[in-house]
Amino acid sequence: MKNITILGSTGSIGKSSLEVISRFPEKFKVWGLTAGRNVHLLIGQIQQFKPKVVAASSEESYKEIKKILGAKAPEVFFGVEGICEIARMQEPDIVISSIMGAAGLLPTLSAIKAGKRVAIANKEPFVIAGALMKSEAKRYGAVILPVDSEHSAIFQCLDGCDKNSISRIILTASGGPFNGRSHAELSSVTPEEALKHPKWVMGRKITIDSATLMNKGLEVIEAHHLFDMPAERIEVLIHPQSIIHSIVEFRDGSSLAQMSNPDMKGPIAYALSYPERLEPVVNPLNWPALGSLTFSSPDTKAFPCLALAYEALAAGGTMPAVLNAANEIAVQAFLDNTIGFNKIPQIIKAVMSSHKPHSALSLEATTEADVWARKNTLKELVK
Ligand code: NDP
Repeated sequence: MKNITILGSTGSIGKSSLEVISRFPEKFKVWGLTAGRNVHLLIGQIQQFKPKVVAASSEESYKEIKKILGAKAPEVFFGVEGICEIARMQEPDIVISSIMGAAGLLPTLSAIKAGKRVAIANKEPFVIAGALMKSEAKRYGAVILPVDSEHSAIFQCLDGCDKNSISRIILTASGGPFNGRSHAELSSVTPEEALKHPKWVMGRKITIDSATLMNKGLEVIEAHHLFDMPAERIEVLIHPQSIIHSIVEFRDGSSLAQMSNPDMKGPIAYALSYPERLEPVVNPLNWPALGSLTFSSPDTKAFPCLALAYEALAAGGTMPAVLNAANEIAVQAFLDNTIGFNKIPQIIKAVMSSHKPHSALSLEATTEADVWARKNTLKELVK
């Protein structure tokens, strides 16, 4: 029996993780849950899964849990420190990192420094501090397992392969709801349209990132760190059917691809059970019904965010942290109807242009760059 802690249990990945866990009660048990603001859903999850420990992001939520559950409440923590405390506890065998955005950095780092087995969905900490996360994982003996479907696909294709035999990693992208549209056609799209992803059901921020292709850019940076692969050997391929989740091409010209129906329960189950494979949590592919699988190159004129991510990776140091923070603020502004869709890359580019990247990859330098970028993005929004 494996004890599992989920950081961000009230989100899309968190809920899918709980679905996987509940399918295999003889294999997995919930140890800890953490949430942000959705305290009512957290309370429902506590009643259903009976975790030993939980954390919410605020003291008000902590009081509400205590008030509603009374003596039946598990041990409750709150605030960033409370979430970090749960992340580093000794008892869980696996910590699922699925908080949204840079807010997951300290909790994920806390789990890594405790030498845990960490299943990483929350890509932003890897974007902003990937080198630090990798070096701390090595230092404390943590095992990092990818949950993002593309990185899980690469991880599965690489199983047992000699890394020196890889020539390229090819990350597939559905292209999002606006695939095929020109830059001009994107100027008037609304948040409601952008939130209608054709293939995946996900949280709001990542859904907008998928529409701008920033999600793929963040994944390129994540893949660079996870698989020690230089940017020039990581490519992106638009594949609207989302059946091939990524491809590894080897020196001898052969390629391995991982394929399955698009459902995050698949990669979550693999990360929880690795190296074992469980009974299917997602329907296997119906090959005759698949039809054709199509591929094309990304259009970085219409979707400049992908190119900005490659630029940030090339600049190195604190630039990826700036890219990420500017993106988080710009995406929220788009969701709030404050800026248009095409303004997202424009604003990120302006903030990146005024940043001189710091080469020291300490937590302090990263945090400073994150704070600087958020302030400067807010200034750009009112220009
Ligand atoms: P959601 O927005 O659905 O969920 C985010 C989770 O993080 C919620 O539990 C939320 O709590 C919590 N949270 C948000 N802000 C804070 C904070 N400041 N402190 C503590 N907790 C917080 O996101 P997703 O599940 O879609 O994505 C989570 C991560 O996984 C992202 O990094 C995303 O890129 C990555 N990912 C997601 C995929 C998907 O299919 N959804 C696929 C691959 C990667 P609450 O809701 O209670 O406020």
